[in-house]
Amino acid sequence: MTSASAYRCWAEIDLAALRGNLAWIRHCVGPQKKIITVVKADAYGHGLKQIAALLMQSGTDIFGVANLVEAQAIRSVGRGWPVLMLGACLPQEVDLAVRDGVMPTISSLAEARAFNAAAARQKKIADVQVKVDTGMGRLGVAVADAVDLVRRMKSLRHLSVAGLYTHFASAEDDAKFSREQRRRFDSVIEALRVQEILPPLIHAQNSAALLHEPAGEGNVVRPGLLVYGIMPPGRRRLNKLSDAHLHAALALKCRVSLVKEIPRGTSLSYGGMFVAPRKMRIATLTAGYGDGYPRAASNRAEVLLHDQRCRVLGRVTMDQTLVDISRLKRVRAGDEAVLIGRQGREEITATELAAWCGTVPWEILTGITYRVPRVYRGGHAA
Ligand SMILES: *Cc1c(COP(=O)(O)O)cnc(C)c1O
Repeated sequence: MTSASAYRCWAEIDLAALRGNLAWIRHCVGPQKKIITVVKADAYGHGLKQIAALLMQSGTDIFGVANLVEAQAIRSVGRGWPVLMLGACLPQEVDLAVRDGVMPTISSLAEARAFNAAAARQKKIADVQVKVDTGMGRLGVAVADAVDLVRRMKSLRHLSVAGLYTHFASAEDDAKFSREQRRRFDSVIEALRVQEILPPLIHAQNSAALLHEPAGEGNVVRPGLLVYGIMPPGRRRLNKLSDAHLHAALALKCRVSLVKEIPRGTSLSYGGMFVAPRKMRIATLTAGYGDGYPRAASNRAEVLLHDQRCRVLGRVTMDQTLVDISRLKRVRAGDEAVLIGRQGREEITATELAAWCGTVPWEILTGITYRVPRVYRGGHAA
């Protein structure tokens, strides 16, 4: 797919940028560490199969997913890459996870026993990873119980404890809390080492922690957002990786479908939240919240048209959005508008759009809907 001219709203994904981002992460962490590239939620909206293929070619070690369907999509692209399911498996998913060779995240002895039993039934040894809850509260065994859990799992003969990990709750904002999380995780690691039952893979660093926290005992990193070329926004100042080396892979684009002049006093879109204070020229764009352009962008976000920033006027609707083009003379139906990405010297980032919408770039990216074709550039994809 090289021509995007027939699309009304589409996402352009720059595979060369993704390749470069992974190379930069590799450069920063060094060759001896393993990289779990997190590709949950359709690879953060970029298209799971294509991105998995690219990351396989570009040297990822392990994939992080949210469910077994995502794991199967990765397997359909290429065999042999370990896949870690980052959420808890449902009881009814255990047999399938073992059959498909997906590493589950274990938080309790009950889960461990269920996996051991499934692996025994299938005459297998299942690789699993144990998660420690150091302050996220979502998954993981309590710090005080972690050593005991790993020790008991050693006697489950159909399990192999391949990894131990934890997850930061606010690495981008809160140095103090992150330090406390690290201290708790380190105490578990130390106790396991003393008992000589420390699992081989140790990891904690999501994108923000890669930027802000020391690696400590970790020999694996677990970035999502950075792979897609976006810095996690937050209050902490950056010290290690520089965003000059990362390039946002995704651009979200649409077109002008209609241009018109409106007299002063005209009310625009649902609810009439914008009333023209003067005569204006407006353009109707072919994207709305049905494409994942958030309704929260109503009356405040900006888009790029003819290399200029144009403000969104009134409510974003399901399929269409209105923008102010009073300063632009030559806008025509069919012209390309950029909702996320570059045009000329201007750039609107997913983070900027997220800020207008009171959300985070993760939600913007994963909110781009199925009807938006993903158009790949800069390399071969699946
Ligand atoms: C989503 C996720 C990540 C990746 O997070 P980013 O902030 O996008 O780097 C890492 N670890 C876990 C457990 C996750 O759920």
